[in-house]
Amino acid sequence: MEKGDGFLSGKAYDVIVVGAGAVGMSAARSLLAQGVERIAVVEREGPAAGSTSRAAGIVSVLTWDEHDALLVKRSAEIYRDLAARFPGRFRYHGDGMVTVANRAATVEAMEPRIAALREVGLEVQELSCAQAQERWSDLVVEDAQAIWYTPGDGQVYGYDYVQVVLDEMQGQVDFYFHHPLQEILQEGDRVVGVLAGDVTLSAPRVLLATGVWTRKVLGPMGMEIPIKPYRTQISVWTADSPVRLPILHDLDLGFYWVPDGQKIIFGDGTEHVESDPYDWKDFNDEEFILAAGERLAKRFVHGQEVRLQGGWAGLCDATPDRHPLLGAYGPEGLFLAVGFNGFGIMRAPAVGEEAARLVLGKESFLPMEKYGAVRFPSWVDFPITEGFNVVS
Ligand SMILES: Cc1cc2nc3c(=O)[nH]c(=O)nc-3n(C[C@H](O)[C@H](O)[C@H](O)COP(=O)(O)OP(=O)(O)OC[C@H]3O[C@@H](n4cnc5c(N)ncnc54)[C@H](O)[C@@H]3O)c2cc1C
Repeated sequence: MEKGDGFLSGKAYDVIVVGAGAVGMSAARSLLAQGVERIAVVEREGPAAGSTSRAAGIVSVLTWDEHDALLVKRSAEIYRDLAARFPGRFRYHGDGMVTVANRAATVEAMEPRIAALREVGLEVQELSCAQAQERWSDLVVEDAQAIWYTPGDGQVYGYDYVQVVLDEMQGQVDFYFHHPLQEILQEGDRVVGVLAGDVTLSAPRVLLATGVWTRKVLGPMGMEIPIKPYRTQISVWTADSPVRLPILHDLDLGFYWVPDGQKIIFGDGTEHVESDPYDWKDFNDEEFILAAGERLAKRFVHGQEVRLQGGWAGLCDATPDRHPLLGAYGPEGLFLAVGFNGFGIMRAPAVGEEAARLVLGKESFLPMEKYGAVRFPSWVDFPITEGFNVVS
């Protein structure tokens, strides 16, 4: 039997997006907004089945450079707009983020980055220890050499985001959930559609937003993309009363947290080794829990009294230079939006806009020498380094 023979579809689209995580759904939404009428989203499982549902969801402009920061700024605008339109279902939570460094070398490494952000009009305030502790009375930062406050930062839940944009697009986009992509169909060197589950869909353009699975997806087609999945962890702790803490990123102790009422979502436990995206340990390591408890005790006045509520591990997709792989790749009509190195939620809505532009042959504001997928036409080995960490 030929591929697709005897199956129900063969339906034609202008663009097929593969992967219904934050990035794929953002791209579909932006394609719709940019006037594309026939869009399909193909997903192996359900909406937000991948890393998107496992993220802490911090949205911070204090990233590696001004382009990422502008992506975050734009994403925060989109998140705020959705929060206003879907109250009770989607929330842009928090009141800025505090980033702490307690080593002189870290402070020095941060200075040019902060200058670059200010250069493009982003606000980064420097706080004294007394100012920080006056504002967040449960915070302990006496040892900090520098404390930066980014007032526009916040946090979102990736799962909730995907659900509201899914609702927005219902009736305008066709969703094929539980349809794993098996093959990208080609005629010569040109994409003509996909085989996904029991359907064959045709389209001249296919955008892959398959996160940590991308290397496995492209490998059988002879494309060895340099993406490595790596594991990172979250634990959730409960205090006796609502905590007076900001969203925090501690650069030198190497963790972040998101306070939410009495709850603290604590993240780190990053492994610098490659994981198998089909077979990995999705629960916490004991050492991670112990280290989390110690760090909570160091930075939170009531950190000795918190109770562990639960936790999980998730995967992020590393690239050799820690920048995403965006735009055209391989056969004509194939595009990628992958490789977010542990901070894809904070960039997803804006990345979706840029990915949609690239799929439609328009210019992106992103410098393609840094973001263009074609900069890695084949496999290169590389060490996995920390994901969301603004100092390397
Ligand atoms: C513990 C943890 C904490 C994090 N914290 C943050 C944070 O605070 N802030 C932040 O910005 N980011 C954070 N991240 C990173 C963030 O989760 C990711 O960068 C982001 O979710 C990537 O979105 P995505 O859509 O590219 O990938 P995913 O959400 O993984 O989506 C990929 C989709 O592709 C689908 N797929 C795979 N193979 C196929 C196939 N063959 N056919 C069809 N579909 C397929 C998958 O099922 C999945 O739904 C965190 C990640 C983890 C693990």
